[in-house]
Amino acid sequence: MPTYAYLCRACGRPFEVQMSIREKEEWKPRCPGCGRRKVEQQLFGFSVGGGGGSEPAPGG
Ligand SMILES: [Zn+2]
Repeated sequence: MPTYAYLCRACGRPFEVQMSIREKEEWKPRCPGCGRRKVEQQLFGFSVGGGGGSEPAPGG
């Protein structure tokens, strides 16, 4: 089961949620810190604004 990284926009707390893709489509996780659902998913290996450099993918 994949793990998704989220960042709470309310309190700024990063957390991870383990759920299936189907579950991910149906509901949105809550922040374990403040309980709000104002969360933003963090994408692994995703860079914003360009730049350079390449990192080996984890796992493989
Ligand atoms: Zn929070």
